[in-house]
Amino acid sequence: MPSEASESPSVNQDLAKKIAENWRTVRDDVDEACRVAGRDPDAVRIIGVSKYVDAATTQHLIDAGCNDLGENRPQVLWQKAETLRLPNHFRWHQIGHVQTNKVRRLLRHNPLIHSIDSEKLLVAISEEAASQGRDIEGLVEINISGESAKTGLMPEAARELLAKLRREPESIRHLRITGLMAMAGWKTSPEAAGQQFRQLADLRGELQSVFDHELPELSMGMTGDFREAIAAGATMVRIGSALFPPELRG
Ligand SMILES: *Cc1c(COP(=O)(O)O)cnc(C)c1O
Repeated sequence: MPSEASESPSVNQDLAKKIAENWRTVRDDVDEACRVAGRDPDAVRIIGVSKYVDAATTQHLIDAGCNDLGENRPQVLWQKAETLRLPNHFRWHQIGHVQTNKVRRLLRHNPLIHSIDSEKLLVAISEEAASQGRDIEGLVEINISGESAKTGLMPEAARELLAKLRREPESIRHLRITGLMAMAGWKTSPEAAGQQFRQLADLRGELQSVFDHELPELSMGMTGDFREAIAAGATMVRIGSALFPPELRG
């Protein structure tokens, strides 16, 4: 018998064990960051970012107890959604850019969409949600670093978008905007990232009061800067690298 065939089950078990350990460590680290920030750990949801790994490896993370998975590319999200065994309280998170031609197939999996960055996308999601008989939850992505390579709306464009929603609420009846999302700049130190996260929290406060629109969710913080994000008020942290062995991440 070829050795690969006899080896792979135990290799799989080792990988499952390693991922379960990483998940526990990340949960403990997030709990600790909440304690340090004087916040309730139940107020911060951990989104396991599975974009680095295949469906079989992603399944190990779900089996370890992760009920929220984030993917960058809509087509990978729906491919995994169609093959994985998902628990009852599971939720998908679309964290990367969405083209309008991907909306139909994406919405079938009821994701929380973190990356809404145009009025066109907003309207496309609401119309498709209406035709599928759903209500979709979404966050507006903000470019807080000011880098031109980053996705998301500049704060001024976000103000214009919220103003428009206030004038024409019927244009997005089936999309509930419940908060903001952002990424710190490329190679930003954790301290500088913390500064950017506080700016996002301030913008949230301003938009809430100017437009009278509740925005309870702040999706910010990744493996390198989730502590700073939690200190600044994150309600969702998006963690990928810390969950998977480096050799799987390519
Ligand atoms: C990849 C990615 C993450 C996870 O980043 P890590 O540093 O691997 O934890 C979070 N958010 C977005 C939008 C991503 O693309």
